[in-house]
Amino acid sequence: MAPFACTRCGKCCISLGRHIRIEGSLSTVQYYCRVAVSGELLPVSVQPELRELFASGDQDPAWCPFLRKDAAGLFTCTIYQTRPRICREFRCRTMIIYDQSGREAGYVKGRRTLVSGDAGLEDVWQKIPSGADDTSLKGILRNHGYRAESLD
Ligand code: SF4
Ligand code: SF4
Repeated sequence: MAPFACTRCGKCCISLGRHIRIEGSLSTVQYYCRVAVSGELLPVSVQPELRELFASGDQDPAWCPFLRKDAAGLFTCTIYQTRPRICREFRCRTMIIYDQSGREAGYVKGRRTLVSGDAGLEDVWQKIPSGADDTSLKGILRNHGYRAESLD
């Protein structure tokens, strides 16, 4: 398995924003965070090296309240070390699929959602039985000239 590489595009935290809210504060850097979908309530702390970004970085009321965009356009979780479980377990990509030339042809989001602009791959994907496990899925892709790599 290849390690998962986050590009810090922020999409996950922007969409998770509607589920995460600040329920109370102990100081300007310590909060109680509520995860609406699970009901989890946990104390979180803004990391010392991210306090300036937390106070002055770009933010949007629709995003997670702990998400900030820095001057380079990268998104940062300012409570990364104490973030909720839902965030720790989230993986936007579970598999990457390469074509015969080694180019990334698409990726799998969640359990079985293909994200790809490759018409051939989309066509093969439609033929994969919904209950296929990873080994069969990879075999079917291989038979059509694609190589799939799971991400941990
Ligand atoms: S986990 Fe995925 S969606 Fe979230 S910031 Fe990283 S690359 Fe973007
Ligand atoms: S707590 Fe951090 S990881 Fe979780 S949604 Fe907010 S910014 Fe993203």
